[in-house]
Amino acid sequence: MNDDGRGLEREHRLFRALAGGESTLSSAELLGALKRSGLESKDPRLAGLTGALEAASSPGLSFDTFRRLARPTLSLVERAARGELVVPDFESLRDQMETEVEAVRSDQRGEVATYIPQLARVPPDRWGASLCTVDGQRVDLGDFGDDFCVQSAMKPLNYALALEEMGETRVHGHVGREPSGQGFSEITLNHAGRPHNPMINAGAIMVCSLIRGDRPLADRFDHVLAYWRKACGQEVGFDNSVFLSERETADRNFALGYFMQEHRAFPEGTDLLETLEFYFMCCSIATTTRDMSLLAATFASGGLHPLTGEVLFSPHTVRDVLSMMSSCGMYDFSGEFAFTVGLPAKSGVSGVVMTVVPNVLGMVTWSPRLDAYGNSTRGLELCRRLVETYNFHVYDNLGVTDKVDPRSEPHARRVVDVSALLWAAAAGDVPALRRLAARHGALAAADYDGRTALHLAAAEGHPLAVEFLIERGVPLFPKDRWGGTPLDDARRHGHADIVRRLEDASDEIVDATSSGALT
Ligand code: GLU
Repeated sequence: MNDDGRGLEREHRLFRALAGGESTLSSAELLGALKRSGLESKDPRLAGLTGALEAASSPGLSFDTFRRLARPTLSLVERAARGELVVPDFESLRDQMETEVEAVRSDQRGEVATYIPQLARVPPDRWGASLCTVDGQRVDLGDFGDDFCVQSAMKPLNYALALEEMGETRVHGHVGREPSGQGFSEITLNHAGRPHNPMINAGAIMVCSLIRGDRPLADRFDHVLAYWRKACGQEVGFDNSVFLSERETADRNFALGYFMQEHRAFPEGTDLLETLEFYFMCCSIATTTRDMSLLAATFASGGLHPLTGEVLFSPHTVRDVLSMMSSCGMYDFSGEFAFTVGLPAKSGVSGVVMTVVPNVLGMVTWSPRLDAYGNSTRGLELCRRLVETYNFHVYDNLGVTDKVDPRSEPHARRVVDVSALLWAAAAGDVPALRRLAARHGALAAADYDGRTALHLAAAEGHPLAVEFLIERGVPLFPKDRWGGTPLDDARRHGHADIVRRLEDASDEIVDATSSGALT
């Protein structure tokens, strides 16, 4: 078959799958399938197709019409229809997000930032959350369309721009990459007389000095804004009142600037006052959670924009940015955040939190009430809740979790994992069992014959694997289709140590139950 023939066959297969065997495909059905997959009809990659579908005079598309419309975007439609986008079961993720965002809404802890009147006046109850995957699957909840100023959440993008333009060595000749261990606006420099990192104020002011320092201020700001717009769309704006009042009340930032100037930390020829203005301007960039989630998703995909496919940053730059966000992105709470949530994130005093799950998705939340560290209370709580459900913590894959992996399709996941699980148990491969537990958690799963990992580990005589499974709380007496339990297997194959261990474990359960410890 030549290429054309193969292409036709592929289009036929997709059409049959979408139309459920009918000779025509209803456009509502196709739009519904795309929506369920998390793609939006206004997604620029699908615009030709969805525009034509919405305008189609007849509700049923013939194969030829479908083919003509879908061709420019066939592989995306195919991946969406076959559940091959990065989060195949996007509806579950969306439902979970909806539930968590609603649950967090009642959290009224914290205070709105008051250091400038423009922030003090923002209604404290606003709450928006948006998520976008690296494949452009999106969910927007609450006040996702409200504008807020990005404040310190501008720091990752500026740092990325400086890295792209000047390279890591030059950038880090002027700014370190260690957490400072002190407040984000503390007047302190590292042992080399440089600001500690690009995520605190001194470091971010330094980064500003590195972005096109030889050009007029207006051009430098246009350049930064153009990047925001490439990432987040043309709606990204500038809040002039925030800028003016930032400049009015910036004694500390001026102090930081002069302190660094005294230490000759800036590049030769830096105009300090202009650099500070540039910094305040960048803090005053205004956007929404919906738009900014595209920047977060761009970071998640190593610099590739999820909708336009444009390369905004190199993967190396993004690696540096995410590393810095992981260690220094959440003010003085960064260590705690890295420990409990385990994801790169950056917050700003307007109440925004941008969080990145590398290779999967970016999330942006906005809620003006802040905790004592300056982080949005609801934003933090949502992050905590999501990593309780999903295995997003960077170290969840070490086998310390029973959480859900939204990256794989539930049924396929089950088949692959049950067989992988049983093979690992039969081989006594505890590290593999641990990894599987981390990915999907289903250690008690059985195959078609009702055989579980514990049956196999007991039958093949692997005491360490048996121990691991017992510790992880799998049922001790599951019956296979012939009525056999793991204990029967251990007896039949003469593994006395395992027989003893299983008997002890069941005694422990009886004891604990009768003493009330397990009730
Ligand atoms: N414009 C603020 C300042 O420099 C940014 C504060 C922040 O979001 O951390 O003080």
